[in-house]
Amino acid sequence: MLGYIRRHLSLKLLLSYLVIIIVGVAVLATAAELAVPTAFERHMATMAETMGGMSMMMELDFFSSFRNAVTEAVLLAGSAAFVAAVLLSIIVSRRVVLPVQEMQAASQRIADGHYGERVGMPGRANREDLDELGRLALSFNRMATQLQQTEALRLELIGNVAHELRTPLASIKGYMEGLIDGVLPSEATTFQQVHREADRLQRLVHDLQELSRFESGAYELDLRPTEPQRLIDGVVRRLGLQFEDKDVALEIDVPADLPPIRVDEDRIGQVLLNLIGNALQYTPSGGRVCLSARTEGDRVRFSVEDTGVGIPPEHLLHIFERFYRVDKSRSRAGGGSGIGLTIARHLVEAHDGQIQAASDGPGQGSTFSFTLPTA
Ligand code: ADP
Repeated sequence: MLGYIRRHLSLKLLLSYLVIIIVGVAVLATAAELAVPTAFERHMATMAETMGGMSMMMELDFFSSFRNAVTEAVLLAGSAAFVAAVLLSIIVSRRVVLPVQEMQAASQRIADGHYGERVGMPGRANREDLDELGRLALSFNRMATQLQQTEALRLELIGNVAHELRTPLASIKGYMEGLIDGVLPSEATTFQQVHREADRLQRLVHDLQELSRFESGAYELDLRPTEPQRLIDGVVRRLGLQFEDKDVALEIDVPADLPPIRVDEDRIGQVLLNLIGNALQYTPSGGRVCLSARTEGDRVRFSVEDTGVGIPPEHLLHIFERFYRVDKSRSRAGGGSGIGLTIARHLVEAHDGQIQAASDGPGQGSTFSFTLPTA
């Protein structure tokens, strides 16, 4: 019972008002009890004085004297009860309003950019014992933490983007200065270098736009039953030549009886392209990449396994984070921005699937796999 009251602000308020009323009535009764006899005696004495020695007391209006005495006493007692009730009400309302005022001040400070602001928990530390105000304070603090994290992410993102843009821009500027000063020859290879850097910049901006679109949810999926083989054929068509050029074998291991999956063909094609493109990029010549698909209950699992450079275990956990690269200089030289896997994870999860990365460590190859629901 006590616990129930503790958790409900309305009951606490009701009880507070009851206490105020009881205290008011008690003060009224006590004051009346004390004041009535004195007032009555005083009125009787005044009356007796006025009447002098007259013996015809029966004629006198006892009742009006008594009424005057009671009115006087009630007025006195009522005033005392009023003062007591007002004092108690002030204490009670301050107890209720204080946490609200604290929250209002804290939200103002957060709005001014002080994201570390938190409010104290009114009353108990135990979460189960918190009333509505306590729970509100808890949600408020949680919201403030979320805001603080979002703000930190935003700042980190701006820093990362600036950092990523700086390298290709500096290269382009360097080439142009070399050309202007006559240090670099004005020939096709120099222009090709500039073109390559501009291309990198364009890809980075495109990836950033995609990332922002997917992270803000500003896109729609055109979900249709799709044959997995169709998706795989599309990727092989686009990357086949590059595999041949680099002398990396591309094996496809997909059973013919695989059920159709419910996906947006373009988006999942993009995920496959990214995973197989990465496998090709991080697998040296003479290596092998295997793309397989299997049914797992009401899902189909796609796996991309390579015999490439592998991923150290401490990096596996972070591999899907924005701008994360295992070997910064190496993948940047290859044109990687560290955004591809973040977009891939968003897309797979938007299809109600899951994506994972596994590797036995450096030089041991990597396996990226993801699941998708069947149609
Ligand atoms: P990037 O554009 O840099 O390739 P991704 O998000 O696609 O960005 O990949 C992030 C990082 O994950 C890469 O920079 C690389 O270090 C690592 N990575 C991804 N795929 C592989 C792979 N198949 N083998 C080894 N490392 C990989």
